[in-house]
Amino acid sequence: MSLTELPAVQIAARIQAKQVSCREVADEFLARIEALEPQVAAFITVSADEARKRADSLDRRLAAGEDIGALGGVPIALKDNLCAKGQKTTCASKMLENFVSPYDAHVVQRLLSDGAVLVGKTNMDEFGMGSSTENSAFFPTRNPWNTSRVPGGSSGGSTASVAARQVPLALGSDTGGSIRQPAGFCGCVGLKPTYGLVSRYGLVAFASSLDQIGPLANSVEDAALLLQSIAGHDKRDSTSINRALPDYRAALTGDVRGLRIGIPSQFFAQGVSSAVQNAVHAAIDQLVEMGAQAVEISMPTTEYALSCYYIIAPSEASSNLARYDGVKYGLRVVESGDDVIQMASRTRAAGFGHEVQHRILIGTHALSSGFYDAYYAKAQKVRTLIRRDFDAAFEKCDVLATPTTPTTAFALGEKVGDPLAMKLADVCTIPINMAGLPALSLPCGMDNGLSIGLQLIGRLLDESTLLRVAGAYEDATQWREMRPTL
Ligand code: GLN
Repeated sequence: MSLTELPAVQIAARIQAKQVSCREVADEFLARIEALEPQVAAFITVSADEARKRADSLDRRLAAGEDIGALGGVPIALKDNLCAKGQKTTCASKMLENFVSPYDAHVVQRLLSDGAVLVGKTNMDEFGMGSSTENSAFFPTRNPWNTSRVPGGSSGGSTASVAARQVPLALGSDTGGSIRQPAGFCGCVGLKPTYGLVSRYGLVAFASSLDQIGPLANSVEDAALLLQSIAGHDKRDSTSINRALPDYRAALTGDVRGLRIGIPSQFFAQGVSSAVQNAVHAAIDQLVEMGAQAVEISMPTTEYALSCYYIIAPSEASSNLARYDGVKYGLRVVESGDDVIQMASRTRAAGFGHEVQHRILIGTHALSSGFYDAYYAKAQKVRTLIRRDFDAAFEKCDVLATPTTPTTAFALGEKVGDPLAMKLADVCTIPINMAGLPALSLPCGMDNGLSIGLQLIGRLLDESTLLRVAGAYEDATQWREMRPTL
């Protein structure tokens, strides 16, 4: 069996046991990246030479008897909004097309100290704004299960690379669903941690009160392994939580007896296809058969989450993206005689794509005096109500189970001209970001050759229970064994 078929935990174990070298692992994955990129187009940058050098140096350390870490020799891809020193961090935007990061993100430091081998930076919707990876300024990525379909977004490159086994693990970021929605579309496991569990230092900001970095993997155990590496306190992020971490892999006991699984009816309305409904209900039935208990829940504010998000996220984005002015870094477009305002406006018109410009305009409007109370302040109040709905739900249950997305992956081009339809792809994932809760998507079915995602939502900082339920379900079903044929 090819090494690229193995989960990350087994790759790391074989390297530790000296059955295979880090270099052999790197070479196999790099060869697969090269072979499949013409079909999948997951990567903006592949750093093959650096990856080989890194693998060789890890092999030398291993030969010298050193401990190379829990991810020792495991290839990993990074979404291109995560800074890695000396590498381009483009955010799939013309604005940052040639920006080379002068420092490592916190998560990158953590991965390197745990022995990971970085193989490249993956495609995304520009600055994370989108649900299909078609908003990349460079090229769209394709779904490995069916290359006429989108992989979802905005972490579409990271997710497609994991699904295609070009890498065993990748990092994405999730502001309104950008890890879970593509995981649902590509048949991967994607986890958005509790807001504050993973430091955002070195993640290019989109909407700072919502953004979280998280793992993409082909199994629950691999997601737990990667979460263990990146989670934990960092004083460079003021919202980073300072608490001892549990052992996430130890949470995978396989036992769900007595757990109460909440089923919020509102998440099964709003255009959820019957194939998705059936698969998610069958997954819940499976968990009940394994000893869990199903509880009906009502979350009436769910229907306002999408509108509320599209005030708060663009407002924060309009402020965060104000830094791209042609002065400090990134693109500069200037003509002779321009003053600084003209330069900024030329730069921003040329550097930002349509969707990004659109969001900046909405956000600036929502924050402007005279409209602030009607939009931004109101949205913050609704956000509080959404949070309270979750608090009330978690008095009756331990985890919530919902679809990850209303439908399976749509066709490339299908929703480009219909921004509302595109945004509805995140209707099940957005409420969770509004409440800062952890949530995970894992495969729970197939329809017409495309995967269906089950979303599990947990209490604040209760990633362990999510992983436990997901792991038990995964072990009891056959979905982990399914492979796209490329
Ligand atoms: N698709 C949503 C948006 O366009 C969420 C994106 C994300 O989570 N980064 O804003």
